[in-house]
This record gives sequence, C-alpha cells and structure tokens, in this order.
Amino acid sequence: MPNAAKGTPTPAKPTVTPLKPTAGSAKPTPDPVKPSANSAKPTPKQVKPTASPAKLGVTPIKSTAVPAKPGQTAAKPTPNRLEAKLSHLLGARKGTIVVMRVTDGRLLAVVNPALAAARAISPGSVMKVPTLVAGWQEGVLNPHRLIPCAGPTGDPACWEVHGNMDLKGAISRSCSCYVGMVGRELGAKRMTKWWRKLGFGQRTGVDLPNEVPGYLAEPGDRVAWADTAVGEGPGILATPLQLVSFYGAIANGGQRWRPNLHKPKALLGMLFPVSGGLDLAVLRQGLSEAAISGSAKGASPADLIVAGKTGTASMPGFKNRTSGWFAGYAPANRPQIAIVVELDDAKGFIHAVPLAKQVFETWQTEIRLPSPS
Ligand SMILES: [Zn+2]
Repeated sequence: MPNAAKGTPTPAKPTVTPLKPTAGSAKPTPDPVKPSANSAKPTPKQVKPTASPAKLGVTPIKSTAVPAKPGQTAAKPTPNRLEAKLSHLLGARKGTIVVMRVTDGRLLAVVNPALAAARAISPGSVMKVPTLVAGWQEGVLNPHRLIPCAGPTGDPACWEVHGNMDLKGAISRSCSCYVGMVGRELGAKRMTKWWRKLGFGQRTGVDLPNEVPGYLAEPGDRVAWADTAVGEGPGILATPLQLVSFYGAIANGGQRWRPNLHKPKALLGMLFPVSGGLDLAVLRQGLSEAAISGSAKGASPADLIVAGKTGTASMPGFKNRTSGWFAGYAPANRPQIAIVVELDDAKGFIHAVPLAKQVFETWQTEIRLPSPS
C-alpha cells in the first residue's frame, strides 16, 4: 500500500545548534538557481568516465515487445501512449523523463532511456533527501533540531538566507547550509555508507541496456564533502533511475523497488530496515511543502497535489552548464507514481518544474488509477 504515514512525532524542545567554523568552506549550492560551478578540483580518481555522447542516443524504450537484455540494444522501439506524449512534451530538449509505479517499480514511461540508465551525472539538490535520511539514521539530526542558515556568506553557504531551519523547512526551502552541516557532521564514511544502502553507486538491475552504477567518492578522497552532501559532483554521480527508485520508496513507505519494464518486481531494500526511528511522514511533509510553497512550487496541476524536490547541478567537466532536476511523486497523500525529470543545460525551478507539472497532467489524463477507498 502506498503511503504508510506514521504517527506524529513527539513534540520536543527545539534546540539551536550554532555553526562551528571549520577549516575549508563549502561553496554555495543554490537551488533553484545556481550561479557558479562547483569548486571541487577533480582528480583522476574522483571522476569516473560516463557513457560517451555516442551512446546517449535519443531512443524511446520498447514497451510493447520483448525486453532488451543488458548489453543488448533495443531495436525499433514502439513507445506506449504515455511515453509518446511525454516524448512530445520534451521535444528537442536533451533530457529524460521517468515515470514509475510506486507499488512495484514498474516503469510506465522512460523517455530517452540512455540518459535515464546509461549516464550518471550530478544530482544536485534532489540528493539532499538521501543525505538527510543518512543524517537521521546516524542520529545527527531529528525533526526538531534547528540549524541557522546565514545564506551565501555562511559556512556551509546557502543560496539564500533562511535563518533557523528545521528538517521540513530545509527540504521545502532546499537549504544547502542545513544539509551541508548534516553532511559535515556525518562525515564522508557514514554518508557514503548510507547512500550505498539507498541504492546509489550501484546498478538498479533495470531491464534497459548499458546501465551504469553511478559513482560515489571514497571517504579518503579529496572532494568538497559539504558540496557532495548537497549533490554536487564529482563526488556523487547518480542516474535518474536510482533517484526514481529512491523517491518511490519515500512515497510508498520505504520499499525500494527495482525499476522494471518487463521483469518481475523485485525489492532492492527497505529504506529503514534497522533503526525504525525515521518517520517518513516528516520527509513527505517537507516534499509536499516544497511543491506548495517552496523550491518546487508550481509542480502541481490544478486538480492534483504532488510532492517533490528540485535540483540544479553543475555538469561535471563544464564550467557554466547545469542540469535541471525534479524528483517527486503524486498524489502527495496516496502516492501512485514517482517521477524524475532531468534536463541538460537547464535549471530545476525554471525548467524542470513546469515540465514535471505537464508530466503529472499527462499521467492523470492517460492512466491514472482510481485511488483505493
Ligand atoms: Zn539555507
């Protein structure tokens, strides 16, 4: 069943944790608009090669015939109706759209599967939620802890001044200071450990050709970890399929399904198998607020409430180019689908959010299932 919201967290006294100046300062990682490129200096060890442009053809998936096996190229694809409409929405823009059913990981549409499965790039602020999950699991944060955000001059820096932020606010406002501080306190070892548990740095096993595992820096690598915590490469490179699987698990109560076209459903893991201390409802409230009044405002069609997160990430290797992201799900209260939109040379709020809204609208028109009563 989608949506296993748990009880309201016990009210606790808010505590303000002052920032402790530390050596090295993280660059601001603004979202929705990021004005500058990432400052991390890649070393050969830090940057993994991604699929060559020649491999990144614009090829709709074959949805009605025998699935392609790994290494096999899908021939003469016949997109399904939803996919064809979404492909039309994307138009000539370079990017990908993934729509996944949250109850079993079934892919309802994948526009440009090579960009969804065979290329890993910086996820930007859509990676903040996995970092917050890691922080919660390790006891670094709780829903009531407040962290002061001083904006662009803060340490870690943020794209705007937010003042005292709690967890929900940090999600809805996309506060890089809050998440950067959580990442700093977690440390690289614990952060990357949880990211792996959440499916990053490994293939999902989707039945699409040439899937790549993405990339996580090793804890000893010289990357700007506060930047990495908020999704800036080259320390973290992710695929849209990894993200749709993760956001699907946030939506459905914790089940992380393998995205699949034709394969039987397969559970890759539960988000919170051990501690049980993480109340997904708080994360979902933050994602709902983001879509209502925060950094993803505008993603909901007129008659559908959605939840989600934007991201604007530097494209590793390109100084002034960014990817625009939206990752989320709908309906917010009884999720049926998770979606990821990624656009090259774009910004999350400006470009990915309006496209996400159209994706939700199209899904409603084409195949929305009746909500269980
Ligand atoms: Zn902030």
